[in-house]
Formats: sequence, structure tokens, C-alpha cells
Amino acid sequence: MTLSQSYIGRFAPSPSGPLHFGSLLAALGSYLQAKAQNGQWLVRIEDLDPPREMPGASADILRTLEAYGLHWDGEIIYQSQRHGAYQAQIETWLKEGIAYACQCSRKQIKEVGGYYPGTCRDRHLPQGDTAIRLHQQHVITSFEDQRYGTMTIPEKLAQEDFIIRRRDGLYAYNLAVVLDDIAQGVTEVVRGADLIEPTGRQISLYRLLGVPEVKYLHLPLAVTQEGYKLSKQNQAPAIDRQQPIPALRAAMGYLGLPVHEAPETTSPETLLAWGVERWHSDVLPNRLEITYPE
Ligand code: GLU
Repeated sequence: MTLSQSYIGRFAPSPSGPLHFGSLLAALGSYLQAKAQNGQWLVRIEDLDPPREMPGASADILRTLEAYGLHWDGEIIYQSQRHGAYQAQIETWLKEGIAYACQCSRKQIKEVGGYYPGTCRDRHLPQGDTAIRLHQQHVITSFEDQRYGTMTIPEKLAQEDFIIRRRDGLYAYNLAVVLDDIAQGVTEVVRGADLIEPTGRQISLYRLLGVPEVKYLHLPLAVTQEGYKLSKQNQAPAIDRQQPIPALRAAMGYLGLPVHEAPETTSPETLLAWGVERWHSDVLPNRLEITYPE
């Protein structure tokens, strides 16, 4: 196998709080998928949005991954260290006339139906108190998921000239994630089903950059009994760093592994090695939403 054909996957948490069960599913699913193919599993900290971050969360997440036996390969990348690369790409697109400054407020966009209609595209506004948008030329309304097949994206959303740098100067998630996945040589993105819609925009960035796109595998999303995504905002409890085995077993079960056959062990590494051996994305449940706790 040549290097360029080998598998590189990643887990890319935002440090808005400690790992909870929902983020453990994304960590575990991406880990199993990478290791079952003898691949590398990278960790990237997506600290793009300081106001939404919790001090100490990055270090906390990394300590928890280690306690769970989820040992990453290579160096950790922090998006806060990558602003130069994001800005350089934006400058290139501005020069090429593909990106432009936009001063429309959310309220104005809401008033015209909720989707941005390209109002500022030909206005040649100076940059300042403005967002930067990308003139959408590669409208992606569907893509193939490795487990769930054809995923469709609402056309109006797919057509939008989306934001690559926010008005407050922060870089947009879609831009950062694609530039970083390319820079890190990622071959497959494995993440929660809440990120299906942005995938269309991300594929359009690969097209624009002329880079072959990665493969995508989405994982069922853990939702509360009321149907909300488990997140820090709805008080998803942090997983217990001292007790990795119960949470790991539960997460493996949610991802479709026959955990009742797993060895009784106190070692997360042993449990994970069993998981890697049994793993194939076909074991994932049919539904893209699972209730937690069941
Ligand atoms: N940082 C994103 C999150 O925590 C995940 C990004 C991705 O996997 O592409 O939701």
C-alpha cells in the first residue's frame, strides 16, 4: 500500500466543554473506523470560537481520551494556530473575485426568506464591519455516505453564498475544517449526523480548490428523550474519566457492536482492540438518531 492510499481519519472536538456521551460516540466511531483499516487517527482541536469555549476544556478532552484508551497518532493541531492559512486562502479568493464582503444582517436575511440571496455579491464593499462570503459555484445537493447512502441537502441551502469569515472576524467552521482536513491528509471524515448538511458546503470547497474530496461516514446522533442533540447546552453530563469501561461499552453498543460478546476487562485498550476487530461500518444501526439513555 502506498502512503497516499493509506487511511487517515480524525476526531475534531470543539472545546466548548468536557467530553459527553455524544462526543464519545464521534471519537469512538472515528477511532474504530480508522484502526479497523490500520489507519491513523488524528485529533484536531477546533478552537475557532473563543466566546463558546470553556477554559481548560481542550486539555480536559485530551486527558479523557487517554483515560479511555483512545490514543491518537501524530501531533495535535489547534485551529487557533491556523489563522494564517485560513486568512491566506480568503485573500486569494478575494483577489480572484470569488469571495466578497457582505454587510447584510441576520435580520435582513430573515426578512427575505432566511436564505442569503447574494445581495452584496456585486456591490464591491470595502472590508471592515463586514462578513466575507464565497460566491457559490459548485452547488452540492447530495453526496454518498459510506453507510447511509445518498444524503440530500436542501437546494436553497446548497445554493447559498456561505460565510467564510464572520463579521466579528472569526473564521467559519466550513472553511477551517476543509483546509485542515486537506493539510492533514485526511481520507475519510467520520462524525455525527448533525453535520450532514454542512457536508455539501464542504464538498463545494474541495471542488473550488480542485482537491479530490474525502469520503464521509456519519454516525447516529445521540439525542435526549425530548429529541434534542446531546450537548453542553442541554446539560449532557461529562463522561466519567475514572470509569471508562461502562461508557465505552455503552457507546460500542450504540454504534452496533455486539458488546455482550466483549471480553470482561478493566483495560480500555483491551476492550477497544476487541471493538476494532469486530468493527465494520455495516454494524451501525439503520437509524441516524438514537435516544440516550435508552
Ligand atoms: N468541531 C465539530 C464539532 O465538535 C466537528 C467538526 C467535524 O467533525 O467536522 O461539532
